[in-house]
Amino acid sequence: RTVYLNGQYLPENEATVSIFDRGFLMADGVYEVTSVLDGKLIDFDGHAVRLERSLRELDMVNPISKEDLLEVHRELVRANGIEEGMVYLQITRGAPGDRDFVFPDPEETEPTIVLFTQNKPGLADSPAAKKGMKVISIEDIRWGRRDIKTVQLLYPSMGKMMAKKSGADDAWMIEDGFVTEGTSNNAYIVKGNKIITRALSNDILHGITRAAVLRFAQEAQMEVEERNFTIDEAKEADEAFITSASTFVMPVVEIDGVALGEGVPGRVAPRLREIYLEESLKAAV
Ligand code: PLP
Repeated sequence: RTVYLNGQYLPENEATVSIFDRGFLMADGVYEVTSVLDGKLIDFDGHAVRLERSLRELDMVNPISKEDLLEVHRELVRANGIEEGMVYLQITRGAPGDRDFVFPDPEETEPTIVLFTQNKPGLADSPAAKKGMKVISIEDIRWGRRDIKTVQLLYPSMGKMMAKKSGADDAWMIEDGFVTEGTSNNAYIVKGNKIITRALSNDILHGITRAAVLRFAQEAQMEVEERNFTIDEAKEADEAFITSASTFVMPVVEIDGVALGEGVPGRVAPRLREIYLEESLKAAV
């Protein structure tokens, strides 16, 4: 596999980063995941804009222009022959010569930028989307700036392990009684014709897929309500689903062992998945 590191395309085993990199020592970095369908990038612009914002919120210097970033994405997709899959991008505050809590001077330390691809045939035509997924609920004990897409993913990773141990596919996190989001996705419930999802704030990641799906839902005359919901309300909903760049729209059919509706994907989530795949592929670059 060909990867990209600090301006160079390299075979993956030749791409190495300093042990002093703050991404490695302090999780001082941000990332984006952009999916690839038919060899094209889905929602590239949204991911590039959010990357800018994450960097700005952390006082990090953006080492690459949007045009160059698109070029690197395209070149990796081409070089690795990706038809369906994703491009992972990570920018850290770089590797000053020492470990220090204080940020290094941006004049002296360059950010580290890494991109690589993952091949995922069958991403769009996913069996999991037909079956629907099971989630458990866990407490949300993450930090208070979940709107910044940092590489601090230990708790989400532990959440996925808790889900796996209990025979589920993912975990929804709960804070002050309300669902925040999934470990790596935004969470929704459906009641009648209404799609309900938590409003944007520092409490959740501002999903790029979320923004697109809510826009498509409104264009399709579906009702959208952005508000908090509890896990009990979710268990009584007609349907539930998640969205993310790597899963698009996925129906949720069970929460904490409670089946939703008939325990199979309902009407709204599969329809939204279809619309999302169709529309976002039309706009893909
Ligand atoms: N929420 C969290 C915590 C995430 O990690 C992600 C994606 O990685 C999302 C939501 C979905 O965001 P997007 O649709 O931009 O992939």
